[in-house]
Amino acid sequence: MSTIKIELGTQLPADLKKDFIHKMYYSDSSVGTCAFDEKGTSLLLDLKEGTTCIPDVLEKKARELAASLSSSYIPIKKIVYFDQSDITPRYCEDIEQVLLDQGHIHQLGQGQYALGPNVTNLIRALDSLFIEFGRSQGAREYAVPTLIPVETLAACDYFTSFPHTVTFAFHLPEDLKRIEDFMASAREQRSKGGIKQIEIEEVKTDVVLSPAVCYHIYHMQEDLSFDKGEQGRTFLCKGKCFRYESGTLNGLERMWDFTMREVVFVGSNDYVQSGRERSLDWVIDLLKQLGLKCRVETASDPFFAGDAVKKKAFQQTLQLKYEILVDLPWKDTLLAVGSMNIHQNFFGKTFNISLENGTHVETGCTAFGLERFALAVMAQYGPEPEHWPEILTSRMT
Ligand code: ATP
Ligand code: ZN
Repeated sequence: MSTIKIELGTQLPADLKKDFIHKMYYSDSSVGTCAFDEKGTSLLLDLKEGTTCIPDVLEKKARELAASLSSSYIPIKKIVYFDQSDITPRYCEDIEQVLLDQGHIHQLGQGQYALGPNVTNLIRALDSLFIEFGRSQGAREYAVPTLIPVETLAACDYFTSFPHTVTFAFHLPEDLKRIEDFMASAREQRSKGGIKQIEIEEVKTDVVLSPAVCYHIYHMQEDLSFDKGEQGRTFLCKGKCFRYESGTLNGLERMWDFTMREVVFVGSNDYVQSGRERSLDWVIDLLKQLGLKCRVETASDPFFAGDAVKKKAFQQTLQLKYEILVDLPWKDTLLAVGSMNIHQNFFGKTFNISLENGTHVETGCTAFGLERFALAVMAQYGPEPEHWPEILTSRMT
């Protein structure tokens, strides 16, 4: 692997650095790893095996990205709703490595993992708490698909906000000749040692793998008018989510294929706001019982480009996203394990869902990343259940 050093010549603000690194991975397919040097003004890029690139071109891309991010940067003060940073975690090994070394997880592909008994038990215990919260809110329980229509995701503005993370799903066209040709080519490639990649010419798709769970919930209520006097509805759902996060994919911290549990509030402004405030109170109580070093604060989503800065500022200023950030002691960084989001009437308008008085509903969702939450617990307590908090072990069979 060859390394390139790029002098940016300028120090980016700390919160912009994360965004910059994230976007650099999408700037060129040769970028393998990407990090700042100790001074924070030079970029160290490792190129992927078997790729080539012109260093000057990469340097130009890096400088342009830094300039564009800096020119539109708006510093925003985060609001902290809960802070439990004074806790000293009992465990500080590199849990990702320990989980792999001890066979608690197995990497099966990029961002794809099989989880062993300890991890699945922990996830089940955590999820039972989230389910309990959802039920305490009177939520209706739904199972939703893994696929989502392109049309639905487009209506949710996903392709204009996060196109880089979308995972497209394809199938062979209904064409006997092409199916037979495909089989013949698969047979031939298998006999030559295996199939690593598939290329299908001129194939179109109208479905993708869903990047979130709550979109299905809004979609299924399309053109719905709430009953007389009904202020809102709450839903409980869980699903597989897919986000291609390129070079930032990393163990259970950032997976391509992960699981999200959501409690979704749909209704009047009061209904949705109070749903989120109850979520916040419940989350704070849970974090205290789990004894995790963590905090809850305002955040923004990783919008890709275009009006990304405006969208981020809007989200932060209006406090539309609260994030649960848990400390990973072995590397002293914070990991988002869940978020409590408000979308105002965006989905209400998009899917024409209205209250009895004709106004569009507002929506909000409280989302937990199950693998990430489990990782965060194990990062502070270790991989063995005997060290985990009682609130979890008491729920294990
Ligand atoms: P991040 O900024 O860390 O990418 P996010 O703000 O995009 O996270 P949300 O859209 O709020 O995440 O999703 C809800 C939760 O789903 C996150 O708090 C996290 O626990 C989980 N999650 C999101 N992306 C991933 C991923 N790539 N791998 C594992 N879990 C994830
Ligand atoms: Zn959601």
